[in-house]
Amino acid sequence: MGNPVQRPLPDVNDPLYQMHFQGLKDNQLRVQQCDACGQRQWPPRDLCKQCHGDRFHWPVMPDQAVVYTYSVVYRAPHPWFKDHLPYAIVVAELENGLRLLGNAFGEDVEKIQCGQLVQAHFQHDEDSGVCLLRWVPTC
Ligand SMILES: [Zn+2]
Repeated sequence: MGNPVQRPLPDVNDPLYQMHFQGLKDNQLRVQQCDACGQRQWPPRDLCKQCHGDRFHWPVMPDQAVVYTYSVVYRAPHPWFKDHLPYAIVVAELENGLRLLGNAFGEDVEKIQCGQLVQAHFQHDEDSGVCLLRWVPTC
């Protein structure tokens, strides 16, 4: 047996995303919110898109969302995904209109529909210590 294939992971130390990934490790969905005007934005930016403020905090969001759009993947883009096919790439909309990308795995992925409720799950990778957002259909 060769070495197991490592899952490709995002750069969790990117300063712009650090608070988000730390939130996931704490089983919390956190997004960037401007200190000056209260605008929440995703993806995070250096400046607020509304007032150009540069100071932010990272409030915890509700962990339920609605499927805005999705795509079911049948061909692995990386060897790690071969054992996880099919899986879905899901853009889920929070109640405040922010849309977050996450994957969905399991036998129900081919039944996913736009408008469906999904629950955020926090997928902890033991080897790397990284936690990723996973959307799980609630029905
Ligand atoms: Zn602002």
